[in-house]
Amino acid sequence: MRTVNGLPTARGLASGPVFIYRGDGEVPIPEYVVEEGLEKDELLRLKRALADTKRDLENLIAVLRERTGEEDVRVFECHLMILEDLVLVKETEDYILKDRLNAEAAVRKTADHARAQFGRMNDPYFRERVRDLDDVERRLLKVIAGIGSEMLLDIKAPSILVADDLSPSEMVQMPREYVLGFATNGGSTTSHVALIARAMGIPAVSGLGNITELVSPGETVLLDGTNGVVTLQADAATVSEFEIQLARQRSLSESEALKAPAGTLKDGGGVSVCANVHPGVPLDGTKEAGARGIGLYRSEYLWLNRGLEPTEEEQFIAYREVAEYAAAMGNGASATIRVLDIGGDKVMHGITVKEDNPFLGNRSIRYLLSNPETMRKQMRAILRASAYGKLRMMYPMVSCVEELDAAAEILSDVKRDLDECGISYDRDMPVGIMIEVPSAAINAGAFAKKVDFFSVGTNDLVQYVMAADRANEAVAHLYQPANPAILKLMSIVAKAAECGGIEAGVCGASAADPVLGTLWAAMGFKTLSMSAPYIRGIGKLFASLSRADLDEYRRFAESIDPGMPADKAYGACREWLSSRVDDFENVIAV
Ligand code: PEP
Ligand code: MG
Repeated sequence: MRTVNGLPTARGLASGPVFIYRGDGEVPIPEYVVEEGLEKDELLRLKRALADTKRDLENLIAVLRERTGEEDVRVFECHLMILEDLVLVKETEDYILKDRLNAEAAVRKTADHARAQFGRMNDPYFRERVRDLDDVERRLLKVIAGIGSEMLLDIKAPSILVADDLSPSEMVQMPREYVLGFATNGGSTTSHVALIARAMGIPAVSGLGNITELVSPGETVLLDGTNGVVTLQADAATVSEFEIQLARQRSLSESEALKAPAGTLKDGGGVSVCANVHPGVPLDGTKEAGARGIGLYRSEYLWLNRGLEPTEEEQFIAYREVAEYAAAMGNGASATIRVLDIGGDKVMHGITVKEDNPFLGNRSIRYLLSNPETMRKQMRAILRASAYGKLRMMYPMVSCVEELDAAAEILSDVKRDLDECGISYDRDMPVGIMIEVPSAAINAGAFAKKVDFFSVGTNDLVQYVMAADRANEAVAHLYQPANPAILKLMSIVAKAAECGGIEAGVCGASAADPVLGTLWAAMGFKTLSMSAPYIRGIGKLFASLSRADLDEYRRFAESIDPGMPADKAYGACREWLSSRVDDFENVIAV
């Protein structure tokens, strides 16, 4: 038996056979001259690989068309066109027949040539195609090399998905009903896999180092996403203990629904608990999970899922769906659309450029202000959709008031255009900012005068305050949401919002943490927004606390010596809460 420790990324337990996905890793490209007379055999090798790759892509398109609809298919149709491009195929064949290059080297040479041509073009459409070309080349080379041409689509039975890491466009291909859990070499508690796993209620452990090398396909593993542990070759006693815990998890998740809206304290009042959602994961069930609204709609997944910039119309359709969903939720529910939060770890060929320090670079609102056409298009789509349900618009990564002023100017321009065209929209659509850069938190009072609401993105705020990359497992120990510096900033933001008379909420992963989420509410944050499967647990916790408990809890947290290590301070808060809440462990395990 062997246990491998990683980061607890999405809560819950799962056991099952492993499906190893080697994904986009580097493919070895041998380069040699083919023996004279064997060129035709080499050509046959290429042709077989082209046919197999074509069949794989067609299969993928057919399944995706049925499962997720036309939008997600477009990118793979484009891959198919590249694969079948006669000019590219002819060039590759010539390298084999005339220069006697082996098939792998011939494919690489053709792709390099096309990449250079696309890269020289000014049209962003062609620059984006470089990314597609890379994908097609990788897929074809893997088939030629006969190595793991496995696709996520090949998961045909309940499995634990083991991978190095997964991109959003890869995750679109995954048959969700068969994925019991995720175990990844890289990633972190706030990576793409983490967000998607939490949104889907699938347990996940990330930062496992080399789990892909430690397991074999089909081997059964035990995955504990709550504690960040994967157990291999478990002995009979461990398996039966795990089974008991799994059965308990099932019965807890089937336990009775909340009596009052999630976030209500036992003596009334409390916070509003909303859902974090993103395109690619259906909205169905969000209300039933207990959400009172959509607190964060990560619009960038409209770009990331497809690897393409969506048109205004495509965006409008997506935002209208969210607006209509919010309207159907009733009780004045709203949906907060966050504008494109690209850059940092959310890279996109042809859209973001390579930067030495991407997390400190041209991301989010900075990217939009330097690409005003993209910003205008998105604002138009959001405003148009605001006629169908209550929407709020939110800017990510704001670091100074000038950015807000510049964005406000673009917004008035867009509104003027819509007025001229007679298009209806919500003239009073609230505009807010994410507080995720230390300068915005420290200067929150000034921002409160200019916006309608704050939502603290603790995922980024923690990385910027602690100078610890949120996606780098080597510094995961320094990524401390309970560090006293974070607690001080959170308190500054809550007070600034209160003085400015605006609403403040939290939408980073810490909102769903029972210890921290409760502390944010005690500090005065009015909304906690989290992945839907976490709502009921937080709801149960709040239902067993009173307003007086929250006040006492805040005083307790404030009394902790700031010299105490963050994990100990967190432990002390957890102990305090567990002394107040009957059956604490079971309540937070829901
Ligand atoms: C955050 O930074 O806390 C946040 C909610 O945004 P994201 O995780 O998408 O960066
Ligand atoms: Mg963020």
